[in-house]
Amino acid sequence: MSWENNVRKVVPYVAGEQPKNKNVIKLNTNECPYPPAPGVEAVLNHFDYDVLRKYPDPDVADLRTVLAKRYKVPVEQVFVGVGSDDVLAMAFLTFFNSEKPILFPDITYSFYDVWADLYRIPYECQALDEKFEIKKEDYCKENGGIVIANPNAPTGVAAPVSMIEEIIKANQDVVVIVDEAYVDFGGESCVPLVEKYDNLLVVQTFSKSRSMAGMRIGFAIGSKKLIGFLNDAKFSFNSYTMNATSIIAGVASVEDEAYFQEITGKVIATREWTKQELARLGFTFTDSKTNFIFASHKSIPAQEIFDALRENQIFVRHWNKERIGNYLRISIGTDEEMKQVMEFLENFINERK
Ligand code: PMP
Repeated sequence: MSWENNVRKVVPYVAGEQPKNKNVIKLNTNECPYPPAPGVEAVLNHFDYDVLRKYPDPDVADLRTVLAKRYKVPVEQVFVGVGSDDVLAMAFLTFFNSEKPILFPDITYSFYDVWADLYRIPYECQALDEKFEIKKEDYCKENGGIVIANPNAPTGVAAPVSMIEEIIKANQDVVVIVDEAYVDFGGESCVPLVEKYDNLLVVQTFSKSRSMAGMRIGFAIGSKKLIGFLNDAKFSFNSYTMNATSIIAGVASVEDEAYFQEITGKVIATREWTKQELARLGFTFTDSKTNFIFASHKSIPAQEIFDALRENQIFVRHWNKERIGNYLRISIGTDEEMKQVMEFLENFINERK
């Protein structure tokens, strides 16, 4: 017998490409095109290196306190982790511990099935309708837990909070995770519902709307009881998930609400302009409430457009998967970047005719 029989084998999540060449238009991983809040640079420039000698605060009190204030919840209801991937992975481990399958849409963040496989959690995907919308009734049957990205990725479609609330209401005996990675670009947040439902965990990230994907900060808001269980699992795994620089940079970011509003507003305005341009060029797309657009051309296959863009140093995301194989997910860059991409697409489409 080989030792390989005892290995926990998984098919890993495939992250978007991070090209080495800096001279590209990078619209493939939904990063924010603007710098982090100016206060982040200021605290890092004045960083006291002696801090690195010591372990960071395992409770991450400073960051949890500013988040609690920002989201108007007690600090005991805030959990932080190394990006929302870390928070979600910890939440799957903690809350999805049933023989019954967890439920999530067939088209959604492709890490959910990877964590489920890693932890041996049974799962059942629920097909979105033809408009890529969630059908509430699919989530009103016996299950071991629910995870919904809202707005969803890679579709960009946002479900109304009223519908999510009905799903939570019908599932009080399991934990419902709402992944709000993109909520700051025009979606409606479920955070106010945590007061009403102690089985709801809302997860957000600093990677998109706070321009800090490189810092790796994510957080969750839920009932005191839910966050308590999450902490028990975290402290049984790694007490010091958050490093000292992430903590101080994260605090500085949350303290600058005006900058946060400014850059999310800019991304939204650029997204709406891009939608008009894409429509003019013959694309159809969902009504994205995120920092990306999920688009399909009426006559040119997505793979062909993807290849042409890539050859010209423009990176977007494409999946060779059922139902979405003819779509491109285009992150929103600066106005200048989007203008260049639209010009390229216009020329490409005209020359191909
Ligand atoms: N949830 C969704 C829906 C995402 O698209 C992403 C980004 N890949 C994440 C969570 C994780 O983001 P991060 O770990 O950078 O917070």
